[in-house]
Amino acid sequence: MPGKFGAGETHPPWVEYPPGMPFHIIEYRRPVRGLVLVAVLLLGGCSKQEPLYTEQLFVFGTLVEFSIWGAESEQAREAVSAVAADFQRMHRDWHAWKPGALTELNRALAAGEPAEADPFVLPLIEESKELYRRSEGLFNPAIGRLIALWGFHSDDRPTGPPPSQKTIADLVARHPTMNDIDVQANRVRSRNPAVQLDFGAFAKGYAIDLAVRRLREQGIDHAIVNAGGDLRAIGRRGERPWRVGIRHPQGRGVLASVETDGDDSVFTSGNYERYREHEGVRHSHIIDPRSGMPVEHVASVTVIHDNGAVADAAATALTVAGPKAWHRIAQAMGIKYAMLVDGEGTVYMNPAMAGRIRFEGGDPPEIVFGELL
Ligand code: ADP
Ligand code: MG
Repeated sequence: MPGKFGAGETHPPWVEYPPGMPFHIIEYRRPVRGLVLVAVLLLGGCSKQEPLYTEQLFVFGTLVEFSIWGAESEQAREAVSAVAADFQRMHRDWHAWKPGALTELNRALAAGEPAEADPFVLPLIEESKELYRRSEGLFNPAIGRLIALWGFHSDDRPTGPPPSQKTIADLVARHPTMNDIDVQANRVRSRNPAVQLDFGAFAKGYAIDLAVRRLREQGIDHAIVNAGGDLRAIGRRGERPWRVGIRHPQGRGVLASVETDGDDSVFTSGNYERYREHEGVRHSHIIDPRSGMPVEHVASVTVIHDNGAVADAAATALTVAGPKAWHRIAQAMGIKYAMLVDGEGTVYMNPAMAGRIRFEGGDPPEIVFGELL
């Protein structure tokens, strides 16, 4: 479905482009100045024929878009405002570098002191310990110091030369892992002062899962929660499934589309949005915890899974695993559908994934199929 959103568009149409319909339900109009995006309902979102309610929130530095099918608009509006209240709290408590529950906990972990974890942060720690283990340590939210060292610990894009090899090696040698963290009831302690938590690789997935739980509590069974192209879709769009786009790793709109099946999270990790560039070399914001270096060989990874947090963590872990090891890590993390795209545009995926996606705007130059091991 190329065409409508040209090169350089910051907000490609990754949600919903139903076949046979005029492509998209929402048009984003960017004001001449300023970053606020104004949504214009084109197809009468709440009419009898199209009981589709859409609303956007700007949180986590991204636009989160809700598409709700088949609910009264009052019910939908109330459900989204319940989610909005949760999101405000997550944004404050989960932030890795702005003062809040997580920065306070990180201070205690670095000092070797036991700390009481905020009830909003504790489940992130517990779940990420498990995902750390299953990913063979490739998903490692304990490497907050390395992330900060590379400058991905800020809202601004880092500039200047990369950190010195020695500083990187020193931090890697201190080997911060999720296994260093002991959790007893709500008391948390780290045996390794080099541990610093950064949940950037899966907080979005976790937040989307909470949003879906909240929507269901409010009686919403058919919806998409889409945070900047990472999304979870539940139920159906009336008579047919939801159909969503997978972002192109080079930021050129949509690479492929997927029809979701009851409850699917579609998450893509890529190096096109956040990276560091120096003398023409681009460094991805995804760090290989084994070397302390940004991942080079992978442009993006897309995972489909029922749980958003797991999909998010896995997309990051498979980026680190790369074309040689993604099969094993996907299997260990319980993922059934995965696709990697490298810098040349070569696609690596398992046949089950191939059965679920359709490339939009032309096939990739090469596809390498591999079964999960
Ligand atoms: P996105 O969806 O934004 O492309 P990810 O979900 O892959 O990105 O998350 C990337 C973020 O995760 C980084 O900005 C950093 O904060 C953190 N991170 C980087 N490398 C790792 C890693 N190996 N394990 C866990 N977290 C990481
Ligand atoms: Mg991720």
